[in-house]
Formats: sequence, C-alpha cells, structure tokens
Amino acid sequence: MSQDHTVALFVGPPGAGKGSLSGFCRRSLGWEQLSTGDLLRKCISEGSELGKQIDFIIKSGKLVSDELINSMVEQWLIESCGQGMRGVILDGYPRTVAQAKSLCEFVEKSLKGSRLKVVRFLVEDTVAVERISARFVCTNKDCQAVYSGLKNSAMKPREDMKCAQCGEQIGKRQDDKESVVKDRLITYRRHEKDLLDFYRDRGNQIIECDAAQPLDELFNEFKTLMNIR
Ligand code: ADP
Repeated sequence: MSQDHTVALFVGPPGAGKGSLSGFCRRSLGWEQLSTGDLLRKCISEGSELGKQIDFIIKSGKLVSDELINSMVEQWLIESCGQGMRGVILDGYPRTVAQAKSLCEFVEKSLKGSRLKVVRFLVEDTVAVERISARFVCTNKDCQAVYSGLKNSAMKPREDMKCAQCGEQIGKRQDDKESVVKDRLITYRRHEKDLLDFYRDRGNQIIECDAAQPLDELFNEFKTLMNIR
C-alpha cells in the first residue's frame, strides 16, 4: 500500500478536546478518524469475554495491553487507509512508547509515503476535569457523539437528552467519574514525557496547540500549524 497523506497523532490528557477536534477534521476536511477509546467501548458493547476484560481495565483508569491495542489499530488502518485519502487522525493512540514504536514500524512498512505529525494538546488538568464533568456521550456505540453542558459550548445536549446525530439517548461515560478521571490523568502524565521524547529522538516535529481555547479557534490554529488551507 503506497500512500501520500498525513497521519496525525493526537497526544493530550483526557478532556483536552482530541475527540472534538477530530470530529471537526472529519466533517470539514474529510479526514478519517480513529478513537481507540471508541473502538474499545464498541468491543465492550459486543459482550465478549475480551470485552469484559477491557471494561474492567477502562473502569480502573488503566491502559489495555499494548499488544491488543496495536493489533486493533493495525487492523483498522489496513481496512480504512484507501487510495486518495487526505488524512487520518489517531486520537488517543499511541499512548506508550511501545505503541509508538509499533505504529512507526507499521507506517514505514505498510503506509509508505505517509507524513507522521505529532499534535500535542496543551491544557491544565483543572480545565480537563471541568470539561469531563460536563461531558455527555451518545450511548449508541456506532455513534458516540460527544456533548458538553458547559456554558458557551457549541455542542450543548438537547433538552430531551437525545443525540442530535442518531436520536439515541445520551449519558455519562462510566469512566468519567471523578475518582477514575484522576487515575486516567495520572496514567496519561506517567507516559507523556517518554512518548514525546521518543518522537523527538526520531526527529518527528511536535506541533503544540493551545487546547484551552474554544474549539473553533483551536481548529483554526490546528490548520495554520499543519499548513492546511
Ligand atoms: P480519554 O483520552 O479521555 O482517557 P478515551 O476514550 O480515549 O478517553 O480512552 C478511554 C480508555 O480506553 C482509557 O482510559 C484506556 O483505558 C483505554 N484506551 C484508549 N486508548 C488506549 C491506548 N492507546 N492504549 C491503551 N488503552 C487505551
């Protein structure tokens, strides 16, 4: 498979807006998007033994194994990276150096010509926690659209708490409870430095976005930094 497109790796804490910006890129730029969190929640909803194990890990704020997530992502990339595709966003992957190594090897071998761009979302933990506590998600695992009850949000939930995209009920994610959020932030920060050092050492530029700003401004900054017109 020989390609010429961008593979953007979104790195940032939970609540940074990675999924929301990915949605903008999908709708406005026609890019493909993979959220590993969405993929894992879909797997849980299928009720298999593997799904039960994943559910347990997610509820504890820890990471699923590198081997499992690497193979899920490779499978998705093989199925989704078609000719003529402009860009793909990996939201929430890689999260560890082992995942990043595996992805870089896969891209070199199977997605020749792809431009890897690391996009780092800078935001304080307090802002991230505030956003997560106001977050609602569509319970339809094929949709998982995200809403926010925060003042001035462009993605407010409807009064009937039904998803504006698919009509299903929206609700809270089980791992958005305050105690789990704290653990997710600790898990993220534990891996962040090593992950960024790994990219720097192999010469990948790290593009830094101010993720505390409103989403439309973040999207404009993202396009400018990525040289997208
Ligand atoms: P967030 O980025 O807000 O933590 P996600 O929806 O991306 O939320 O992920 C939810 C959970 O899914 C994570 O806390 C983790 O348990 C699991 N997960 C997602 N992506 C990965 C990954 N790349 N490696 C290991 N576990 C992952």
